Amino acid sequence: MTNLDSINNEPLSLGHHPVSTTPGTFESLGLSPDILASVKRVGFIHPTPIQAQVIPIALKGKDLIGLAQTGSGKTAAFVLPLAEKLLHGRGIRGLILCPTREIALQTKAFLDLFGKTHKLATTCIIGGVKAGPQIRDLSKKPDIIVATPGRMMDHLRRGTVRLDTLEELVLDEADHMLDLGFLPQIEEILKRIPKKRHTLMFSATMPGPIERLARQFLHDPVRIDILPEGKAAVGISHRLYLVERENKQNCLVTLLNQELGSTLVFTRTRIDADWLFRMLDKEGHPVTKIHSDRSQSERVEALKSFREGAHRILVATDIASRGIDIPAIEHIVNFDIPGTVEEYIHRAGRTARGNAVGLVSTIATWKDVTMVKEIEQTLGQEIPRCTVPGVPPFVEFKPKTPLRFGRRRRR
Ligand code: AMP
Repeated sequence: MTNLDSINNEPLSLGHHPVSTTPGTFESLGLSPDILASVKRVGFIHPTPIQAQVIPIALKGKDLIGLAQTGSGKTAAFVLPLAEKLLHGRGIRGLILCPTREIALQTKAFLDLFGKTHKLATTCIIGGVKAGPQIRDLSKKPDIIVATPGRMMDHLRRGTVRLDTLEELVLDEADHMLDLGFLPQIEEILKRIPKKRHTLMFSATMPGPIERLARQFLHDPVRIDILPEGKAAVGISHRLYLVERENKQNCLVTLLNQELGSTLVFTRTRIDADWLFRMLDKEGHPVTKIHSDRSQSERVEALKSFREGAHRILVATDIASRGIDIPAIEHIVNFDIPGTVEEYIHRAGRTARGNAVGLVSTIATWKDVTMVKEIEQTLGQEIPRCTVPGVPPFVEFKPKTPLRFGRRRRR
């Protein structure tokens, strides 16, 4: 992956985040020599499919809806046109709304890299940190704000920021923002910004409320769909461990001892994440944790130590299932099965990023069998039933007529 931490060290090195690119060139997309130089410095050689399609349309000022997942190069697809169109010092003209603080921070890092030649100033307005420094930053009129909707709305209500000079709006991971209950804030924010503006919206799914948002707030948008046909990335192997409830912990520990690569373990609740973290820590595993009860600095620190390999295991709630770009996760463990199929796909998407391969192990009990079947329907395959030594499998009832798996397209 691109080393976003070394923003000030030139040339910026491209690390090892394999991402599928097109044979095309950035030069053919209509970017200026300045911005092309920053792309070169970052080390991007060919555009990814979403970049190749979005950049020329966004540069022309047309609204668009991009159906794309994280890991597809989506961030640069909207950051590059923004960096191209905006120059420093004419008031707040760009707003990017993101679902989580981590995605907001990553997006700011991209803007700092690509906006350097136009001296663009970007401010991150996210929850979980003090408002005072944000108010100071806002009073300096940054060119672009990257924000989570809740904190952005707080500032708008308090009158610590106005968005009446806004020209460019990006709604990133719109479906995830809705999942997190941000629809009222988004609608309110959108009512407070100029109607005459350019809007880009990205989402991995297109449920009804997103279509409605698009109809209400986008002007004749171009639709770009680069979602993979098979839903989950091709390089992922899925495995299912059906066990009794009291054996889940044993199953997890055995899996962690068998698969020695970097591992992201998902639990359903913050309490379970804390409990699992304590248990693994006590057993001597190199483990850290992330969930929404942790402070912003703890979350940043946990991700950093996981990314850098100081901790091989990250225990997380679904806060980490989307948008976090850690290139080398080899193994995802669903200690608790996700509540929806979409969430399974998003969790699985944390591994096998770009062209890499990865493993998703789901530990499930008899209560989870209905969800397992739904996931299998969506994947279009039966997930292989696997066992670990010392943990007896739970034997499920199998219908005589085998299930038929149709290839359904993403909603
Ligand atoms: P994103 O989908 O925006 O989270 O990007 C996923 C990863 O792909 C990030 O590590 C980017 O730095 C990297 N990336 C994005 N575009 C390119 C490109 N054109 N060439 C190489 N790497 C890229």
